[in-house]
Amino acid sequence: MPNKVLLVDDELSMLRALERLLQISGYRVFTANSGAEALNLLQQEQCQVVISDYRMPQMTGAELLAQVKRLYPETVCLVLSGYADFQSVLQLLNSGTAFRFLQKPWENEQLLAEIAAAFLFYRHQRSERIRNQLLIAGHGALLELNENAQIMRSNGPAQQLLSQSAAALNHTLFDRWFKLNPDQQQSFLQDIHGSIEASDHRGEACELHVQYRDSEATIVGFKHLQQQDGPASIYTSTLMDQHAVLQQMSGLLQQQKPFAVAAIRLKNFSDWSDMLGFAEAGLLFETVSQNLMQACQPCGSLAYLANELFILTMPSAVTEVLVHQQLTDILQKVRQQLELQALVLRPQFTITYCLAPEDGDDAKQLLNNALTSNRIHVRSHHSFFMRYSASMADKKRQQLQISEALFLAVERDQFELYFQTKLDLRSNQCHSAEALLRWRHPELGFVPPALFIPIAEHDGQMIEIGLWVLRQACLAVKRWQHDQLPFQRLAVNISGVQLQQANFISQVQRIFAETEVDPAMLEFELTESWMIEDMAHSAQALQAVKALGVQIAIDDFGTGYSSLAYLSRLPVDVLKIDRSLVIDLESNINTQSMVSNICRMAHALNVEVVVEGVESAEQLLMLRTMGCDVAQGYLIARPLPEVDFLRHLVASAVQGES
Ligand code: C2E
Ligand code: MG
Ligand code: MG
Repeated sequence: MPNKVLLVDDELSMLRALERLLQISGYRVFTANSGAEALNLLQQEQCQVVISDYRMPQMTGAELLAQVKRLYPETVCLVLSGYADFQSVLQLLNSGTAFRFLQKPWENEQLLAEIAAAFLFYRHQRSERIRNQLLIAGHGALLELNENAQIMRSNGPAQQLLSQSAAALNHTLFDRWFKLNPDQQQSFLQDIHGSIEASDHRGEACELHVQYRDSEATIVGFKHLQQQDGPASIYTSTLMDQHAVLQQMSGLLQQQKPFAVAAIRLKNFSDWSDMLGFAEAGLLFETVSQNLMQACQPCGSLAYLANELFILTMPSAVTEVLVHQQLTDILQKVRQQLELQALVLRPQFTITYCLAPEDGDDAKQLLNNALTSNRIHVRSHHSFFMRYSASMADKKRQQLQISEALFLAVERDQFELYFQTKLDLRSNQCHSAEALLRWRHPELGFVPPALFIPIAEHDGQMIEIGLWVLRQACLAVKRWQHDQLPFQRLAVNISGVQLQQANFISQVQRIFAETEVDPAMLEFELTESWMIEDMAHSAQALQAVKALGVQIAIDDFGTGYSSLAYLSRLPVDVLKIDRSLVIDLESNINTQSMVSNICRMAHALNVEVVVEGVESAEQLLMLRTMGCDVAQGYLIARPLPEVDFLRHLVASAVQGES
């Protein structure tokens, strides 16, 4: 976002002089000659810095800046004034409302230095807020490090995984808890999306990754490569280690010999541990790794990397077919051996591999690629062997890139709301709509919500984005009401992670108060998946939302749990039947009966039924006869930018009348 300054002064000559000076210095300048005008302008333009005169008629600088701080807490405010007001200005500074005091008449150089400091302060606050947001709402174990790799803060999961209190972790050096050599640590912390495997202070293997970085701090995430504890004493100490594997691979590459490298992970060790207890599972692991080593001998050399992870270098497997043959043989031998030993539990492996030199031309890269694909596939149900795929690793990298860009998307004005009209089938009127978020990134282009919303939910940005959406939706409703448009209700999608925030309700109340919107004109759309996890908590959260005066809709009904039983226990007003049920409505008699039944039962509970994804007139006709109340879909209108949506709204109102 360009550096935007708002100047407020009732004296036009002052405004012009300051405006010129700041424009020459490269700022985007906006001007207002009263407090009211300034507040209006701020609704449209997000300015990072506001400079206001102190003495102004109607609203004084103090009153204006207090309001600015309340509405846009991150804005940095400066007061411009003569000496006469010094005492009052001092109060403003002391209360934290104003960042600096600029004296009239000003010295250009000094004034520019103060403004530069204000922008610096803005960025500092902003990055601190992002980090706070991550530490509070992000998933997984996170540590905040300063530039000396000292831990400044840690979140609950990090304290739990390291079995340390916040006080024990804070102000200690990162390398006290993770064993990395200094080179590794430096290159990892400098890489914007670095990710490495290391071990923690107890020798447990873990994966570290840089989650976020700004000029002041880095947020590092980590997870153990296995749940809880690993196998205790393991036979694997006699196997090669990571260093030896790398050397062996480098040797083969130097001789220009093709070969394969496989990452083999025993993925059900933690289940064994839960079932049998830790010591017993450790013994079992030892037996499996012994068998694995023997089975691997004819094909290559096996190295033990970390807890349940092995690396097999296969010099004679030079094609995919050979890799598959050799790995199949190995697994068969392991299973036979275990059967002979009457082992009751079957080991399950995740096996991925790379072919050299196609999949990487140095040893480290090959090892990393084999491990990356193993991590990607660890949760997959594939039982066959997966080759490293650059595109899959790219996908993972793309997700990281999206995550990073999302942290700045609100500030950089990259979001826009589109609106999709709904048709009331009882009155044939279009007087409600759904707000849908659109994101255009200068390099990534248009990123669909189905792609970025799950990332934002996982990495913590959804809280800020969700509040932005709600504020814009309220402002839009207010504008339409002011213009007396034939509009009754706007639906806003609310993510489960927003509802789980302890201060969600108070944040919504604040937005309602600031935008002066009538809550009855809003509907919150929630998906059912997050609700069924903890029914008691969901019911409580929904009651609190309901008490705000908004309507509650269950979105994407029919895709998940879809039980009507819980509806009677929750304060739900609307049920939105998912598009997937509409697609085969015409051809599938089961879907027809399901939709009719949902309508019947919903009506019995006094719940309105909306159907989304209606694309054909035939579907609409069927839905009408089935008793659906409202339809939404491309047949009625696509999601549109505000101007086009309003045109459609007005046109359909006129059509409805005629
Ligand atoms: P949703 O809330 O179920 O929204 C309906 C989606 O179906 C929208 O996709 C809409 O453009 C699309 N759609 C509507 N009618 C038709 C149709 O006739 N045919 C087809 N093929 N598609 C139709 P969109 O805008 O890509 O949004 C996808 C999802 O992303 C939304 O599903 C919602 O879950 C989420 N989302 C969008 N905006 C927000 C937001 O502001 N906050 C949150 N938390 N989620 C949002
Ligand atoms: Mg929706
Ligand atoms: Mg939906």
